[in-house]
Amino acid sequence: MKAEMDREELLAWLRADDPIRLEALWRHADHVRQRCVGDAVHLRGLIEISNYCRRQCAYCGLRAGNRTLKRYRLCAEEIMAAAREVAAIGYGTVVLQGGEDPAIETGWIARLVRQIKAETPLAVTLSLGERDTAELAAWRAAGADRYLLRFETSDPALYQSIHPGLNGIPVHRIDLLAQIRALGYEVGSGIMVGLPGQTYASVAWDLLLFRELDLDMIGIGPFIAHPMTPLGARSGEQAVTGNEQVPNTVQMASTVVALARILCPQANIPSTTAMATLNPRQGCQLALERGANVVMPNFTPWIYRQLYEIYPSKGIPDSSADSICGRLENQLTGMGRRIGRGPGGRIGRWIGSKPEFEIYENVGYA
Ligand code: SAM
Ligand code: SF4
Repeated sequence: MKAEMDREELLAWLRADDPIRLEALWRHADHVRQRCVGDAVHLRGLIEISNYCRRQCAYCGLRAGNRTLKRYRLCAEEIMAAAREVAAIGYGTVVLQGGEDPAIETGWIARLVRQIKAETPLAVTLSLGERDTAELAAWRAAGADRYLLRFETSDPALYQSIHPGLNGIPVHRIDLLAQIRALGYEVGSGIMVGLPGQTYASVAWDLLLFRELDLDMIGIGPFIAHPMTPLGARSGEQAVTGNEQVPNTVQMASTVVALARILCPQANIPSTTAMATLNPRQGCQLALERGANVVMPNFTPWIYRQLYEIYPSKGIPDSSADSICGRLENQLTGMGRRIGRGPGGRIGRWIGSKPEFEIYENVGYA
């Protein structure tokens, strides 16, 4: 198994159901993770700053069409208080995430980023959806370090059907990722696994696209149906004929994590909240054992957390990354891992088709 794996090899692994072969894949991914990014697990403090969204993504409970959801937007003081908490607990990064909230002004986010950078040593990651270049540039100039924007699926027909443009204007998240890179951000993207209509072939292309985009961060989580969304209402339907529909299970998503680790050895790969939601007891750990090296505990104030319901149960305390991370330090020690300190940024880059270093040391982030 090599980082040069081609589409046919990827397809064979994605379709694999022999537990012994899968165990071998996961073990290999864990070995690549250990060799290339080390044993540190970086913790990013997640603050969900707004659940207003102007978009109509067919998968997400925050979509504008979900009139049953009570909406909230944190004020600057609430965000700063949460960011100070993230810094005080010793984490290296804060992630400000939210819907595409039209009331969030460019200058307001820029001021917040400046204040976080002035008051704390935190790296700042933004994940605020599709924004225009001027906005992204202003936030970068204010000091934002990273931007997360999942392309969700590389299948154009599936993407268009689940992610409609605004006012009929189509959106090309993959093009936007290139702009984000050109502005000097570390770039994060990713997919959902098991979207109705998603085939193994399309996930193989997604994996190859991760490598082509040379992503610094790769977020992979199982799709979880939300009943107040078009995809949730359709869940259970046989969207793809034959056996080509990708299942939305922890096993499938962790196989995609493992393949992403092998293809993109130096990327930061989180164990996503969706994994922990589907399997509250083991989801987080399984991803960490199969290639992931990042966890994003939730620092959104409690009164708002349950309202950031992109899928059901996400806001429920026992299935949140927060409760998992209460047990995390012990768990990590038991797994031979440790908590990473410092910003935990990307530690190397591929040059052409070869890694920059033969052996990767996670120096500077211990
Ligand atoms: N609005 C921003 C955006 O779309 O990039 C950031 C917030 S959005 C809620 C973050 C991610 O949640 C999306 O990129 C998507 O992959 C994931 N997501 C949304 N609905 C989901 C669902 N039903 N199941 C699993 N993941 C979901
Ligand atoms: Fe809005 Fe993001 Fe949800 Fe789409 S995925 S509806 S852009 S919050």
